[in-house]
Amino acid sequence: MPVYDHLCKSCETVTESIQPINKKSIKCPHCGKRAVRIISCNGVYTGNDDATWLKSVRDVVEKNSGKPHAEEFLKNPTRTNLKNWMEKENLRNLEPGEGNRDPTPWKPDARFTDKLRQKHMERNAISIYR
Ligand SMILES: [Zn+2]
Repeated sequence: MPVYDHLCKSCETVTESIQPINKKSIKCPHCGKRAVRIISCNGVYTGNDDATWLKSVRDVVEKNSGKPHAEEFLKNPTRTNLKNWMEKENLRNLEPGEGNRDPTPWKPDARFTDKLRQKHMERNAISIYR
């Protein structure tokens, strides 16, 4: 089962958890409220075209955007189409340690607060050097 990040909108904690693809939310381990699944742009493993998580990435792709690269990935969620979609959306994976050298290597979604982004970066930095 793939590893997902879950965001609790109540306490703004991001929790990493291994969950089935169809499980869209978990109980926040910090406050007990509902934490919804979000996608992490860090360390996305793209080594396997058949990976089940590839299909789950479709959840975060803007539907009916009319963008050919989005349509193509939604229709055919392969590693190549994911890479193409990420490039066109100006998304990329961080290099190992990059988050530590540059505190703002990627622009988070506007819905993310700076505080949340900071927590997210700190957590990822910890996982890189663990
Ligand atoms: Zn919480």
